[in-house]
Amino acid sequence: MNVLVIGGAGYIGSHAVNKLVKKGYAVSVLDNLITGHREAVDASAKFYLGDIRDKKILNQIIQEDSIEAIFHFAASSLVGESVEQPLKYFNNNVVGMEVLLEAMQENDVKKIIFSSTAAVYGEAEASLITEAEPKQPTSPYGESKLMMENMIKWCDLAYGIKFVSLRYFNVAGALRTGEIGEDHDPETHLIPIVLQAALGQREEITIFGDDYNTPDGTCIRDYVHVEDLIEAHILSLEYLNQHNDSQIFNLGSSTGYSVKEIVDASRKVTGKDIPAIMGERRAGDPAKLVAASEKAREILGWQPAYETIEDIIQTAWNWHKANPAGYVE
Ligand code: UDP
Repeated sequence: MNVLVIGGAGYIGSHAVNKLVKKGYAVSVLDNLITGHREAVDASAKFYLGDIRDKKILNQIIQEDSIEAIFHFAASSLVGESVEQPLKYFNNNVVGMEVLLEAMQENDVKKIIFSSTAAVYGEAEASLITEAEPKQPTSPYGESKLMMENMIKWCDLAYGIKFVSLRYFNVAGALRTGEIGEDHDPETHLIPIVLQAALGQREEITIFGDDYNTPDGTCIRDYVHVEDLIEAHILSLEYLNQHNDSQIFNLGSSTGYSVKEIVDASRKVTGKDIPAIMGERRAGDPAKLVAASEKAREILGWQPAYETIEDIIQTAWNWHKANPAGYVE
């Protein structure tokens, strides 16, 4: 099957390309390399440098490579930044999705696997968030992803474009075999920041607020390993191939860890001190996001292989130790 991975040079996209290639899919990649790394893209994939908002290049790839399904990873994804620069999110994310859907509709591509986010829920009431929880995003990032989900939904109704939206909780870790990992510039995500401190690349980390309504006052998140996350994408494509039925799934572990717990687990894995200081809250952060993930397990047969947070952090630590400067391009 011929698939196009948009954003395939990014952290999650590059792990998807790696697994798709290994499973025998013919993979084309479109990435503007603004945040992605060319080096992270598996050599067996066909690479195109370009932007999701450029319909000409989308048409060209879809036609030349006879694309049958799209994986969409090409979005801006930082909660804090989105509060400061909302229009960047509405342009890259929402406009990008609109252009992509036009190209899909015009070229008769009927399947899309979409990276959505737990940020669509905002401040949730339930201790385990199901897919039916009210959607009340607390950031332009979450709002943009909710808009994108809704755009695909209406295109399903009008044009029969079938989708699986995967609402990621916190994605972490690196390929166990070590070829690729997580490298953002600037880095804003908790686990890589903590590991940079463990490597001595930062003097300390700042915990963004300890006055949340949680047992230790720091925010609680649900961490899922990137390889498990990608496995769910491939199961989603297989699902669409068999059912012609759109779906929305949470992808999480149903276990929450506070920021302090992540720092402690990282100290255990790395054997380093990792100094932490307390700072202000970061705008847009909900106190707690933990998934109810039964739906993906039941319908897709998804079974995450990584069971402990230490195991997840260990794979990230292996990558950071081996690539202290990230990708060197
Ligand atoms: N966080 C923190 N210090 C940092 C980076 C993140 O305390 O230097 C917190 C952040 O406020 C959130 C959690 O760690 O509660 C996870 O943040 P991350 O940016 O990794 O993912 P997000 O939850 O925004 O998708």
